[in-house]
Amino acid sequence: MSLHLGLPPLRETIAAHGLSAKKSLGQNFLLDPNLLQKIARIPGAIDGQLAYEVGPGPGGLTRALLAEGAAVVAVERDDRCLPALEELADAAPEGRLTLIAGDALEVREAEVASGAHVVANLPYNIGTLLLTRWLEADWQPWWSSLTLMFQKEVAQRIVAEPGTSAYGRLSVLAQWRTLPRIALRLPAAAFVPPPKVDSAVVHIVPGAMPEGVNPATLSRLTAAAFGQRRKMLRASLKGLSGALDAVAACGIKPERRPETLEVAEFVAVAREIDR
Ligand code: SAM
Repeated sequence: MSLHLGLPPLRETIAAHGLSAKKSLGQNFLLDPNLLQKIARIPGAIDGQLAYEVGPGPGGLTRALLAEGAAVVAVERDDRCLPALEELADAAPEGRLTLIAGDALEVREAEVASGAHVVANLPYNIGTLLLTRWLEADWQPWWSSLTLMFQKEVAQRIVAEPGTSAYGRLSVLAQWRTLPRIALRLPAAAFVPPPKVDSAVVHIVPGAMPEGVNPATLSRLTAAAFGQRRKMLRASLKGLSGALDAVAACGIKPERRPETLEVAEFVAVAREIDR
């Protein structure tokens, strides 16, 4: 299917519907069809599969997902974009684009997008919140994969390795049952209007759920450990019941600082706390 689906180029759609970008909604649009196609292909072959998009805006990424053969459920909060998106729904094969007008934070994704590949150029102000929610979902999660745009610095935190300054709570949350990777880096100039910082697309596929670990315990553990990043575990974990005994039982020295612990060590300590 052509990227344009017989529709005018995106710039014309944006002009025709007066879709000037609103900063308050985190609107930085992608207009280059080649770049959009590259992003739509990051999850792999999605022909005949379901994609879930947050914030389609004028519909550039939506067009690319439809062109790859996916059925798309898209949720957009800015009503100004809906006429352009409805045009796109009419141009696409019957029933292939389902629009939800509203706030992505209110959507029950498991009901409307079960099994979907999530592909989104996320509004930066809710990107980390949505990612955290999707990573904390019941496992196996409702989504098949996540392909998400972030500010470069957030993308680096998601994939960071121990011993680096970017390594922290988000790295452990992202990595303990998935293997995230940076799939594409984009300069600020790729967007209209350009944001202040560069961006990167992160790709995440769910992995196995480690046995015997309560996600809430792991969350409390990383909150305590990284809440006082400069302190040794001995000090930062003092207030978390059973944590220091668990650290000792795992053979981890309490003089270590949180950023030196591998993800697997956090997982082992969390498991031990609940044993
Ligand atoms: N997907 C388009 C693209 O790549 O050009 C637009 C991306 S723009 C960075 C983010 C989009 O998310 C905007 O269209 C904005 O209106 C929408 N948005 C912002 N907050 C939202 C929310 N809470 N729920 C749904 N959409 C939201």
